Amino acid sequence: MGEFELIDRFFKRGARHADVGIGDDCAIWTPSPGHQLAFSADMLVEGRHFLSTVNPRDLGHKALAVNLSDLAACGATPRAFLLSLSLPRVDESWLSGFSEGLFELADAHACELIGGDTTRGPLNIAITVMGETPQGQSILRSTAQIGDDIYVSGHLGDARLALEAFRGNLSLPQTAFEQARGRLEGPAPRTALGCAMRGLATAMADVSDGLLGDLGHILKASGVGAQLSVSSLSGLMLTTDAWACPREWMLRCVLSGGDDYELVFTAPQTARDRVAAVALAFGTPVTRIGSIQAGRDLQLLDESGADVPNTFRSFDHFA
Ligand code: ADP
Ligand code: MG
Repeated sequence: MGEFELIDRFFKRGARHADVGIGDDCAIWTPSPGHQLAFSADMLVEGRHFLSTVNPRDLGHKALAVNLSDLAACGATPRAFLLSLSLPRVDESWLSGFSEGLFELADAHACELIGGDTTRGPLNIAITVMGETPQGQSILRSTAQIGDDIYVSGHLGDARLALEAFRGNLSLPQTAFEQARGRLEGPAPRTALGCAMRGLATAMADVSDGLLGDLGHILKASGVGAQLSVSSLSGLMLTTDAWACPREWMLRCVLSGGDDYELVFTAPQTARDRVAAVALAFGTPVTRIGSIQAGRDLQLLDESGADVPNTFRSFDHFA
């Protein structure tokens, strides 16, 4: 099978909302009136972002999910994406699993594949997504205000827990392992919640490299500090009910875990009821974990208000 037959067979489905989709030199797209375009790119490299044993359907899902998560973090509605694939060989069963997982998530978010690139080489998946926000309503990292509450969506730490189990560093009961593995291999981008935070969250980011690091980006960009209450973190793992995670592991997974694809955001204290109503409306739990402070420090406080030494680090490819 040649390159173009591969594209036709596994990726071309006919333009839906694009003016011109797959098959011409460029895709052509007309933005909705009164909207700004939001772009983001994320690459998944075998051995670095996923294990060679992962099933192709999950990989197709995850490759797009991590990109949709970035759009959600800006409050952008997904519209379209480009897929650049480097493949060692044409493996039809791999390609059909991969494209199924990819399109299932794409369709669930009405995000259309409008083009890309295909070459032979080590397995590498690069996606560029495009979304829209009403003019001036994107949610940035740089606008957190002193006194704001800090929230996270959903669950944190389980993806890291699964990774540690895969590496043989800890052993989990079967139920907890399956839950954690589901979080690692099938992240659910918080698209609806992210969009609903327009006009409500003062700043937002997605948690991809670990809570402390990603919240740290908000703090740095906004020129503020924060206090986090460690007791509010203890219920954040999905696996909490299935397995009593030792406190040290819990903190490590929740604070510096990575691969969570949840949202961390700030909102004024006066917006607590509205935040709770949005969380309820979208069926996504939201947990208040601390507050924005003057200064530049990120302080962790225990139940009694004492400092917890912060020795946790987020993921950095070049650190
Ligand atoms: P060019 O040679 O002009 O770079 P290609 O020959 O690589 O274009 O691609 C032909 C068409 O197929 C283009 O519309 C391109 O966007 C699309 N395409 C290539 N690879 C993919 C892919 N993996 N997924 C979706 N569309 C693709
Ligand atoms: Mg061309």
